[in-house]
Parts: sequence; structure tokens; C-alpha cells
Amino acid sequence: MAAIAFTNATLFDGVNDEAVPGMNVLVVDGKIEAVSDKPLSGGDSVTEYDLGGRTLMPGLIDAHAHVFAINLVEEHNRNIAITEMTARAVPRIRKMLDRGFTSVRDVAGGDVGIRNAIAQGFIPGPRLFVGGPALSQIGGHGDHRNLTDDSLDIDFNASAFNFECRIVEGEGPLRSHVRNELRKGADHIKVLASGGVGSPTDAIDQIQYSEAEIRAVCEEAAVRGKYVAAHAYESAAIAHSIRAGVRTIEHANLINAETAAVVAEADAYIVPTLVAYEVTAQHGAELGLSEYVMEKLNYVNDSGLKMLGLAEKAGVKLGFGTDLMGQMEFAQLQEFVIRGRVQRPVDVLKSATSVNAEIVQRDDLGVIRAGATADMIVVDGDPLTDISIMNAPEQHLRLIMKDGDIYKTDLTAK
Ligand code: ZN
Ligand code: ZN
Repeated sequence: MAAIAFTNATLFDGVNDEAVPGMNVLVVDGKIEAVSDKPLSGGDSVTEYDLGGRTLMPGLIDAHAHVFAINLVEEHNRNIAITEMTARAVPRIRKMLDRGFTSVRDVAGGDVGIRNAIAQGFIPGPRLFVGGPALSQIGGHGDHRNLTDDSLDIDFNASAFNFECRIVEGEGPLRSHVRNELRKGADHIKVLASGGVGSPTDAIDQIQYSEAEIRAVCEEAAVRGKYVAAHAYESAAIAHSIRAGVRTIEHANLINAETAAVVAEADAYIVPTLVAYEVTAQHGAELGLSEYVMEKLNYVNDSGLKMLGLAEKAGVKLGFGTDLMGQMEFAQLQEFVIRGRVQRPVDVLKSATSVNAEIVQRDDLGVIRAGATADMIVVDGDPLTDISIMNAPEQHLRLIMKDGDIYKTDLTAK
């Protein structure tokens, strides 16, 4: 029995608005055994960390990332074998855990293989939730083919570029694809329901897929207890996705108040990914993004903060995502600061813990309570009053525990 106790913690449990000082938490065999303001007895074999009032909170969850997006310019990923891609993704994945993200939802590219390799301990990294390739229509956000590629005969066996996106059209082929991904063990399915920033031929405001096609995907996921995430920016594409049964809307930068109410009414989630636009707007052109892509990027970047306000006002459940490609990965924690410009720190922290746990359908994550999985971090200072603390891990992030194991700490046990 491996037992670890944290004593004298200021506890933010991921759910309640207040952090409570003077709390003790006992971890046994990967699970939180007890949470109390009284001394806990775990026997002689307990390793104790006196946190001296530091903040103990759930491990962070990023609900929108791409572990295999090793280059910012998507076209650069096309000619890389999956083995090389995996090797190059390993440090990228490890750094996510180094930043305190104990779980990450991958919404295009991440497959059951990389998820399982991490779970089995071959690669240090966050627990992954994966959906395989994102699904795109012809000419959609996932269609990166050259002008000279005129094939229409692209079924679910063909991929547009490597394995991050796949062109699958029509209700029948879509159903087959979803059944196959879920057979392999996918945690969710991702559809590209509107134009996007990084793709060469589709305008942001374009609605992609018919409602019937997305509904077919949602039906197939639902019968297996899974759900669908949709990439969408404008209100029309968001409403179209919600009508078809989508559960999480990714990005949503250009949503209006009326559609935010529709999302709230459906009990669906929005997963904002604001940092991706902010840092890519700063660095994208020098790293080789085309003028057309930069133009689309600036268009959605300008409206991100307005979206947060509209969504909060409508009562939409907001997840926490980052969507950083390639060289932009360093900015993953900067999302906290951007969100903090509009939201209360505690609401941003709940998004990155308990709300994201709901999104990945795991009520044992994103929370510190007896019976939960022991994914926790220790932070110096009070992120509930100063959210920027989250963006300075080298000074403030003192311990990372995943599944009850201390992955990293510079604190010493008693
Ligand atoms: Zn997207
Ligand atoms: Zn994305």
C-alpha cells in the first residue's frame, strides 16, 4: 500500500468557490482516501508532505489539444511517418504533464495507441482522451489537398493529410467510420462543422457537413455512451451542430447571444481556445503561415473575449482548451491569463478541472474528494486571487501527482 499524505494544505477542490485552509488529504493506491480538517491517520508507512498553506488543487485538464501537431504549419506534417511523428511527439506530451496537465483531450490525431502507451507507462504524459482523426467533408477544414488532386472517390480508407483529419462524406460512410473508431476504443468523435483558420480553401463562416451527416455521427456515438465534439466558429454552424446533437462546441469565437442561449439550453459545452489565436497572431507569419491563414486568424482572435462574456451571460458551461500547434506549445498555461481578463479566476480554474472532467465523462477527475483519482498539483500562492500564478510554473508549480504517483516535486517529505 503506497500512501501519501498532504497536510496543512489550502484546498481548492475544483468545485467549490472558496479555497479552504488547514486541510489534510490522504492518498492510497492512486485514489484519494480521505479529505479532512482533522489529522488523518494512514499508518506508519505514510509519506507526509507538509504543504505549509500552499494551494492543493486538482490536476489540470486541457480539453482541446493535438499531441501530434508537431509543426505549426499543418502541411509540414504531411510527409512524416507515424513512427517519427510519435517519437517527436513524446517531448511535447511530457511537457504538458510538466505544466501540471494530468489529463488532456486530443481532438484530432491522437489515437488509442498513444493513449494506451501513456497509460501503460511507456511515455510520461497526461492521461489522454482520444477520438482519432477529425472528420471533414470535401473542401472542409480537414481537406488540405492540392488544387491538382481532383479525386472525389475518397472514402473512409483515404486520408487527406497524415492521420489528423480524414475526409469522410455521406451518412453511411460516416456511420461506418464512427463505428470503427469506437470499436478501437475512441473516447469521443470530432467533426469539423465549419471553416477553420489553418486550412487553405474554406472561409470561416462556411457551414460544413449537412445536419443529417452530423446527426448520423452523433447517433452512432450516443449508442455507445460516447459524444461528439464539433469545430465551429460562427453562430449558424454552432446552431447547426447543436441541432444535430453535438455535445461540445470547439472555439465558438464568433457566437452571438441568441446562439449562446441555444447552446446553454441544449446543456452543451463551449471549449474556448483563445491562446492559440493570441500567440499565433504574434508568431505565425514569421513561422510560415500564409497571408490567407493569418487574415482568418486575426478575424477570430479579435472576437474571442467577447465570446467569453456572451457565453457566461447565457449560462453556457465553459471548458478549457488551448489548441496550440507545433512551436506555439509553450503558451499552454497562458490561456489562464487570457480567460482571467473576462472571468473570475475561480471560474477559469473550474473550467480546467471539474468542468473539463465532465466533458471527458469522468467524475473521478478534476476534483479533490474521497474516492476520486489522485491527480493533483501543489501551487505556491493563491491562484483564486491571482490567476497569473498559473502561468509561472517555474516559480509556483511545486508538485505534480498523477494517479497517486508523484511525477515531479521540489518539496521534501517529512
Ligand atoms: Zn478547430
Ligand atoms: Zn484543434
